[in-house]
Amino acid sequence: MNLKMPVGEAGGIFKRYASRLEKLGIKRFEDFLYHFPFRYENYTIISKIESVQAGELVTIQGILVEIENIYTKKWKKIQKAKVRDETGEIEIIWFNQPFILNILKKDDKVSLSGKISSYLGKLVVESPEYEVINQENAYKTIHTGRLVPIYRETYGVSSKWLRRQVYKIIQENRNDLKDYLPQKILNEHDLLDLETAIEQIHFPDSLTNAGKARERLSFDELFLLQLSVKKKKTEWKENLTSHPFLITKYKNQIEQFWSKLPFELTRAQKKAVSEIFKDLGAKNPMNRLLEGDVGSGKTVVAGIAMYLAYLNGFQSVFMIPTDILANQHFQTIDNLLSSLGVKIGFATGSKKQNIQSFDILIGTHAVLSDKINYQKLGLVVVDEQQRFGVEQRAIIRKKGKNPHFLTMTATPIPRTVALTLYGDLDLSILDEMPQGRKKIKTWLVPPEKRKNAYSWIKNQISSEKSQVFIICPFIEESESLKTVKAARKEYEFLKNEIFPDLTVELLHGKLKHGEKEKILKKFKNSKADILVSTPVVEVGIDVTGATIMVIEAAERFGLSQLHQMRGRVGRGGKQSYCLLFTESTREETLERIKVMERINFGAELAELDLKLRGPGEFYGTAQHGIPHLRIASFSDFSLIEKTKKEAENFFPQLKNYPSLLGKIESKNIKQISPD
Ligand code: ADP
Ligand code: MG
Repeated sequence: MNLKMPVGEAGGIFKRYASRLEKLGIKRFEDFLYHFPFRYENYTIISKIESVQAGELVTIQGILVEIENIYTKKWKKIQKAKVRDETGEIEIIWFNQPFILNILKKDDKVSLSGKISSYLGKLVVESPEYEVINQENAYKTIHTGRLVPIYRETYGVSSKWLRRQVYKIIQENRNDLKDYLPQKILNEHDLLDLETAIEQIHFPDSLTNAGKARERLSFDELFLLQLSVKKKKTEWKENLTSHPFLITKYKNQIEQFWSKLPFELTRAQKKAVSEIFKDLGAKNPMNRLLEGDVGSGKTVVAGIAMYLAYLNGFQSVFMIPTDILANQHFQTIDNLLSSLGVKIGFATGSKKQNIQSFDILIGTHAVLSDKINYQKLGLVVVDEQQRFGVEQRAIIRKKGKNPHFLTMTATPIPRTVALTLYGDLDLSILDEMPQGRKKIKTWLVPPEKRKNAYSWIKNQISSEKSQVFIICPFIEESESLKTVKAARKEYEFLKNEIFPDLTVELLHGKLKHGEKEKILKKFKNSKADILVSTPVVEVGIDVTGATIMVIEAAERFGLSQLHQMRGRVGRGGKQSYCLLFTESTREETLERIKVMERINFGAELAELDLKLRGPGEFYGTAQHGIPHLRIASFSDFSLIEKTKKEAENFFPQLKNYPSLLGKIESKNIKQISPD
């Protein structure tokens, strides 16, 4: 099996297991080596049989003097064996693993690791890990007698099986584990060479070595990421726009735009606008990420950028992930710009207007269609970047000649992460809310107060004309039927049992488009009091009458996700509220959720997510579209700093190191950049 070979092509068990292995991220044989253990079982103590004691975790090695299947009264099978070394004999017992008799035979030399228990006054080894010692592994057992790696498993793929594959793959491919990092980097940062690191992360001689291996591989992960980002940025800078936009020439028109706004821009918005203008006036195309909490006012910033494009005689396109949001943005931009003479087109799957002649086109991925007549595309704005793939951004880019790119996100990405991962983008952060926005009062509601909470909600609806979002638990990662079913059940319950006198509606991703639109419109126009919804729908809809957000099973979400959902209320001037429910009774979980009562700023919550839940959990979720690091951590700020510096330093020499360059080019790093 060569390292680059797709697992399925190896036939036999690999072919059968290919889809299971893919769940673990293992597609090629190489990926086995990068499926790192998350802990080790410590079976390093090899004991003589006469000296073992109940409760100890030990390894014993000796000759198998007997082994048999025994049927118990309840028709269960027990496997009983006896092992002898030069100091004595001990009994072994397994439960329901009759196949062991095909592997371990009488007179075999065996190695067994497990716990010693006392059974009817006798010492026995209970359900130990086992392997036969033969000439090949006499000095190196892999399942016993050492630090034994434990892996993330999936159905039918056990740690033991993975361990065997990893071991074999390392043995057979040593030549391909030659280091791609230059020796001087290894020396300077005191790093293990690649082969040793791979071997020691899986089969460490000591925990210290496992730690060294982890250091080396974490360094790799972040260093390669930084190099690849740096490379992209450099390549991007080599592009030239067809025309830098003029700014001072259109000073008056821009003034007029500002004077028509019903509000003054925040300091953060002003800063972002000036950064964007600077980019638009340069000869390289802009590639900027605008990050800001929901409600921080990104749309108007995009609006002025598109207006500047228009003034310069260029078209803009505004790509938006969903129909509903597209409609909403269309209205906003139409309000801002039509009266200034800007012709606005609209394109979604179901509705198209002015697509042959427009200055600004607003729409979903339907804007990629060949039917649309792009004549002079100068600026691309992408909202909620995580929902658009790299390919879609590449397609839209080709509709113009190196157009400027503005990507907007409400995903609260911690600054460090943004700089590492999206270092090829320039970053503007809206870290301030428009004035007069009230802080959303947030409570974690204990289960015994649920009833009171419902009466309070009823009260708010009748006395304040409040509207309420109720977000149902998130059952699976993408919106499956299961999630929809749970939402429907909750909806029926609320409608019939709790709020029989109110208008309750249900919204989920499996509804037909027209249906969704109708329900949302109804809610937006205050014709419904309560909207029960699954978590994945429409993060950005603007319903000014909604002042109460209820989130069920809050423990299933990261803080920043909770924050994003909470951001759907509080968009009008009224005091808004967020009620969080959880069935969990774990102290840490409750503490974590309670943070929401205190902190009201997305990036800060994201930073906390990193610390509290760990990057795996936070960034693993598909919603964020942020790649999962296999071994390094976005919370390891000092390593991020170190690798960033080294990448900066080393970059000019990169071309002299073909294997490293190849590694970077082959690396499947998820990027939000447009190419
Ligand atoms: P988001 O960043 O979530 O896309 P929007 O652009 O939709 O936020 O803005 C949210 C609301 O805030 C809109 O109704 C918008 O008109 C309003 N808004 C934007 N900027 C300001 C400001 N500086 N002062 C007051 N209201 C603002
Ligand atoms: Mg928005």
